[in-house]
Amino acid sequence: MQFTIFKSLKHPSTLMFKTNRHFIFSITSYLIILTALLTSNCNKANLDSPDHFERLFSGDMEVIDLTYTVGKTSPYWPGKRGNPFVYDTLFAHKSGAPAMGSYFVPEHFGTHLDAPIHSADSMKSVDQLTSSELFGPAAVIDVSAICSSDPDYRLKKVDILAWEKLYGKLPKGAIILMYTGWSKKWPDYNAYINEDDNGQMHFPGFSPEAAQFLINERNINGIGIDNLSVDAAIANGFPVHGIVNGAGKIQ
Ligand SMILES: [Zn+2]
Repeated sequence: MQFTIFKSLKHPSTLMFKTNRHFIFSITSYLIILTALLTSNCNKANLDSPDHFERLFSGDMEVIDLTYTVGKTSPYWPGKRGNPFVYDTLFAHKSGAPAMGSYFVPEHFGTHLDAPIHSADSMKSVDQLTSSELFGPAAVIDVSAICSSDPDYRLKKVDILAWEKLYGKLPKGAIILMYTGWSKKWPDYNAYINEDDNGQMHFPGFSPEAAQFLINERNINGIGIDNLSVDAAIANGFPVHGIVNGAGKIQ
């Protein structure tokens, strides 16, 4: 099961993002968002017996630190208004190290959550989401091998069915995390966007078919990915955004 555990910081004030596997970031060396993913061995037995926080303290749940440091040069969604990260020291120690700062980032930067309103008008914004909508058993579908040779790969329904064959049917309320291997490219902006000579970006994503299947047939809570978007760069528009957020789910 995945839990997001929280922010905390090395220096001053803080920020918290809801996070998913492979997308946990911290902000420069000043702020650190400590987020952890609690996992246990993924097998049919523990899909049947949900994880609870108690398991963390009994020692049979692994805690994985997924934080990354973010800064001005971190990968971000390109665009005219894309000044991705600005940090300003408000108060400094004698050494110059910040005691308190402020920062600016676009919402679609680093680890972030797309609330339903991101892609569908009149839907819930972040503050309207309930805690139960933000948590769920995590299923990581690893397609990094194929994505390394096909950066335009889109997760298919058959990939989900293959996962289920190994681990059991996805439980209701699951959060499906597509592991593309892109997180290994962090913090290389050019490698993340992977542009060709025509300026077309290339990175993997979910197929609309897979997203629709997860919404219609598996009643998931949401999806996640370790790159810039749940829609592949070559997708025509943002169909997966529309399907998932349009169903009131998160990504
Ligand atoms: Zn988005």
